[in-house]
Amino acid sequence: MEKDFYKIADRNNNLGTETAFTVLAKANKLASEGKDIINLGIGQPDFPTPEHIVEAGIKALKDGHHGYTQSTGIPKLREAVSNDIFRRHNVNVSPDKILIVPGGKVIIFFSAMLLGEKNKEILYPNPGFPIYESAINYSGARAIPYKLSESMGFSFSADDLLNKVNDKTSLVIINSPANPTGGVVPKKELEKLAKGLMDFPDVTLMSDEIYDQFCFGENNFTSMLTYPEIRERLIILNGWSKTYAMTGWRLGYGIFPKKLYDIAEKLAVNIHSCVNASAQFAALEALQGPQNCVTEMNNTFKRRAEIMQNSLNKIEGFSCQKPNGAFYCFPNITGTNKTSTEVQNLLLDKLGVATVAGPSFGDYGEGFLRLSCASSDESIEEATMRIKSIF
Ligand code: PLP
Repeated sequence: MEKDFYKIADRNNNLGTETAFTVLAKANKLASEGKDIINLGIGQPDFPTPEHIVEAGIKALKDGHHGYTQSTGIPKLREAVSNDIFRRHNVNVSPDKILIVPGGKVIIFFSAMLLGEKNKEILYPNPGFPIYESAINYSGARAIPYKLSESMGFSFSADDLLNKVNDKTSLVIINSPANPTGGVVPKKELEKLAKGLMDFPDVTLMSDEIYDQFCFGENNFTSMLTYPEIRERLIILNGWSKTYAMTGWRLGYGIFPKKLYDIAEKLAVNIHSCVNASAQFAALEALQGPQNCVTEMNNTFKRRAEIMQNSLNKIEGFSCQKPNGAFYCFPNITGTNKTSTEVQNLLLDKLGVATVAGPSFGDYGEGFLRLSCASSDESIEEATMRIKSIF
């Protein structure tokens, strides 16, 4: 047995994890042992990165882009992000407020490091992306969940959220379209939140907009960038992972107010120096090249979400709302009289269907299960048929 002599710092006890990766490892192991696995666990597009983007990455390598780049990202890419934001939201963002990072996830950690410490509170959505709670706890701040309820289409009421803000609150995190629920917050609630935060001038807002281009329900996507009243204390998280099926390239960006940007840049220099150079050239092509790949993916996820929702609603004990965005269904499974984790394990071990139990996304996720629609129509039909056969 390994000797337990390390003096590991206490804060590491506060780190959480992303169960989707644990499920992925288990599903891959079962598949390597010859089991027929349908993986609806991990949250990534099942499409390859579009060819023209891959070619741009290869070309960058062949052209000799092998060295470090600016820690903030290559200037052309930051300019392209700024142009993309203007094209989609009609908002001007100076490239020098845009930080290119190795994955959108980095912006969560940076935000928590910038604004979280002992005696501060950070609000985060629950059920929500588990890294929010983990990063907040790691920072030393108190993680204060706000509930996304099924009865509200997994949105929040701005009034309820604002009621949790107090003198200790340093940061509020929102995510729409949301992982794991597929919920999209209506514009009127976002507007109310932006206005309401005017009463709390020291509170920063971090809006995780990584699924912004996968929005297909009755609520259209609204970027928090469109509210000038909070621009000076707004952090935006976005990137290429989902929009352009580039999860493995590790690319993302943050938009920060200038004061926070300067510290975020220092964090970048301390932690990762810069993002892989060829990936940045691929990202440039993604933004400047044809955008029909994005529209096609959005249409596909919409169709698959409908197929999945309909099939899940035919399963005894399952009840699933229509997702309005992202690429997840989040059915209520309390009718099965089993816990979420029991159902997750049963589906993987007995049926070879990988899903993620709701509590992996926070305590309010109990009674739910996340299934990714980023899988072929046939896989979705086969998986839901397998599930139906045991309930
Ligand atoms: N934010 C949310 C809500 C996510 O679901 C994810 C990835 O699953 C991320 C951020 C991180 O994305 P990236 O792969 O670019 O780090």
